[in-house]
Amino acid sequence: MGFFEDTNYFFGHAIDAMDVDDNIEALLVTPNRSVTVKIPLEMDDGTLRVFKGYRVQHNNARGPFKGGLRYAAEMDLDEAHSLASLMTWKTALAEIPYGGAKGGITVDVRELNRRELERLTRQFVNSIHEFIGPQTDIPAPDMNTNAQVMAWIMDQYSTLHGHTPAVVTGKPVDLYGAEGREAATGRGVVYVIEELLKDESRDIEETTFTIQGLGNVGSFAARFPDGLGAKIIGVSDVSGGVYDERGLPVREILEHTSSGGLLEGYAGSDAITNDELLTLPTDVLVPAAIGGVINESNMREVRASYVVEAANSPVTPKADEHLKKKGVIVVPDILANAGGVIVSYHEWVQNLQNFSWKEERANAELHDKITEAYRDVRKLAKSRNLDLRTAAFVLAIGRVGKATVLRGIR
Ligand code: NAD
Repeated sequence: MGFFEDTNYFFGHAIDAMDVDDNIEALLVTPNRSVTVKIPLEMDDGTLRVFKGYRVQHNNARGPFKGGLRYAAEMDLDEAHSLASLMTWKTALAEIPYGGAKGGITVDVRELNRRELERLTRQFVNSIHEFIGPQTDIPAPDMNTNAQVMAWIMDQYSTLHGHTPAVVTGKPVDLYGAEGREAATGRGVVYVIEELLKDESRDIEETTFTIQGLGNVGSFAARFPDGLGAKIIGVSDVSGGVYDERGLPVREILEHTSSGGLLEGYAGSDAITNDELLTLPTDVLVPAAIGGVINESNMREVRASYVVEAANSPVTPKADEHLKKKGVIVVPDILANAGGVIVSYHEWVQNLQNFSWKEERANAELHDKITEAYRDVRKLAKSRNLDLRTAAFVLAIGRVGKATVLRGIR
């Protein structure tokens, strides 16, 4: 199965639990528009390379399209379709007035220096600027894109359309960004985990965590439980992982990785592979890197009681079914990692009002919105005897479906 097929499997599973007309189902599953563009780039050594860029706009019944930009060698149109669809359900679940989109460039960023990355980004904006805008489609960071990339996008779009900070979110705080946005996805993951552990009558200090990925999402998802006294026994990045059953020195590890170091160069704890990390004896497993990592090949070895999907689509449909049968609770991506888009929404609101909030307010509003979404999902799951993923999709599809019907079919 491709990623879009996987997402549609979860969508279809929820549709089976709902009373939705077949035609409305087709309307909801089909993306509004997908754009593929050519991005020519003159490298610093004078050679020419041609990259492919994408923007998929899945659904805008509830508001402008919204979703990140991913720069990765594996990025393709199928992945953009899947991630755009997930954004539609995620924004609906979080009750923010957006639809869903996603895009990116097929590129291994390690092959580009900073000047080349900036030129590539500006060229990409030149190709897609007619399709994005503060009331049309608002990109944000995802894998291998960050606040600096968002600043270049804002600047390039503004040279074409006039000063427009609200065209993109996740910008640097010094350039119309929002306090708290950088940490928001990881912080949201932890707010959801806190609610989950309360429901499960578990004490966070007595709970062990394993986290895959120490980028934007994973590093903050590791920092906050550590601050709350939780024991993080395993972490990894693209180069491999480290393990200590007594608890890892998380701050020291994050100091090493935040200055650009890879975990394979960290000598303080026992080295493990990414495959070993995913099957450690842990209470909470947080995949926060790439899609499809828990799949048919390793699902039987997963020993966690809870899997919290900080990454998008880390658990394949087959593995999801298997974990469900085993009694593992999976908190789905459209709920667990919604913190980023919630704070992105607040950044956009602040940009439109030329006003900025203090970080305490940003975090408090994030907490309210994401815990409310969690409570809605948990309540529906309990009342209808559904797993959390199906309940989350049922709620989101219901909201998008209602908006679609109210607006009128066109
Ligand atoms: P990032 O680029 O900042 O970090 C990615 C991390 O994953 C790095 O530590 C990298 O070393 C690791 N990694 C990459 N390939 C790996 C592999 N094959 N095996 C193990 N680890 C690997 O990306 P991010 O922004 O933290 O995004 C991570 C995930 O979270 C993605 O699935 C993304 O779609 C999702 N997400 C991100 C945001 C956001 O605000 N950035 C919001 C919602 C969801």
